Amino acid sequence: MKVLVINCGSSSLKYQLIDSDSEGVLAKGLCERIGIDGGMITYQPEGKEKIKKQVDMPDHTEAVKLVIDSLIDKEKGVIASLDEIGAVGHRIVHGGEKFASATVINDEVIKAIEECNDLAPLHNPANLIGIRSCQAIMPGVPMVAVFDTAFHQTMPKKAYLYGIPYEYYEKYKVRRYGFHGTSHEFVSKRAAEFLGKDINNFRVIVCHLGNGASISAVCNGKCVDTSMGLTPLEGLIMGTRSGDLDPAILQFISNKENLSIDEMLNVLNKKSGVLGLSGVSSDFRDLGEAAGSGNEQAKTTLETYYYRVAKYIGSYVAAMNGVDAIVFTAGVGENNIEARQVIGDYLGYLGTGVDRNKNNIRGEEAVISSDGSKVDILVIPTNEELAIARETVKLV
Ligand code: ADP
Repeated sequence: MKVLVINCGSSSLKYQLIDSDSEGVLAKGLCERIGIDGGMITYQPEGKEKIKKQVDMPDHTEAVKLVIDSLIDKEKGVIASLDEIGAVGHRIVHGGEKFASATVINDEVIKAIEECNDLAPLHNPANLIGIRSCQAIMPGVPMVAVFDTAFHQTMPKKAYLYGIPYEYYEKYKVRRYGFHGTSHEFVSKRAAEFLGKDINNFRVIVCHLGNGASISAVCNGKCVDTSMGLTPLEGLIMGTRSGDLDPAILQFISNKENLSIDEMLNVLNKKSGVLGLSGVSSDFRDLGEAAGSGNEQAKTTLETYYYRVAKYIGSYVAAMNGVDAIVFTAGVGENNIEARQVIGDYLGYLGTGVDRNKNNIRGEEAVISSDGSKVDILVIPTNEELAIARETVKLV
């Protein structure tokens, strides 16, 4: 079956057409600046050159129409007609406590996703627009919602409650949810498979280090803790997000700098993390370069970032009373050799460490721990689109 995977943002739409039999990507691309002047669509058919076209898209329905036009184009297309698309899988950011797994989309599901809008006001409404636009262009094609939060719904209460008055959980469902669940599930399963271990008897810590970054403790295939919270702001230091901090800092800085709470959150979401700390960039390639050419602030930023990851690993070893494997994934985890080496250097107490030669790889599955290590350290590239396509096929 051919599955169209859609990841819809407020002004963008990422897509992949995946053949679920071969699990190959037939085409992929991106619509940018939807509803804004200067719209741009990128379309890349498998094994062929990427095509980038400037075209204004007044709304997401128009964007979906353009995506379909590209896919069925006589010259550059990869399918003969719309009928070849067997299902659509939508990435949905927040499923609250309502969704512990992917689900086939119907009116009731749409209503339940809408009810989670409050929890992810920047993401869920955009995800819903993506669903409605696809329904308008492809009526009758089954669609599935795959939630970023679902995999983490197995966390026990002790892991998801905040130490604040319980009534806020009861009244407003203020609790930790966690994100990147599709990636944590995919990577933890794949790690067990790759090592030839039974997932039902396997404790793994997954470090998803991308622009957004999160870490999770997965015990016997179930998430028992993860670093992101009510929103993706909690946890590790990220590209532009602060991660954990003393909440009193909000009041302190807002008084000093005369910033509103919304402005403060904008600072914590968009101007903090390694970008804010270094003053250089949110991109680890730029940071590595700056540190390499003697920029002390960039060096300190990287040290601070690595240290936070190492601390989280330690706390998740405690959460699971031990660990069998630690996995690196996403842009930084898959490609940044130094990050893995330095984080690995913190893990001597576990009887493990990163082997310099084995670690000299990028973007491929590998065990990188030293021979004789008590805990395996691995690199497993994530593939959220493929995971969404698999879930979609399973449900339709
Ligand atoms: P997103 O959360 O946006 O999906 P990614 O998983 O793509 O983010 O991760 C982006 C980060 O990965 C950037 O900081 C970038 O520097 C890093 N990265 C990506 N590719 C490479 C590479 N080949 N070498 C080093 N770092 C890389």
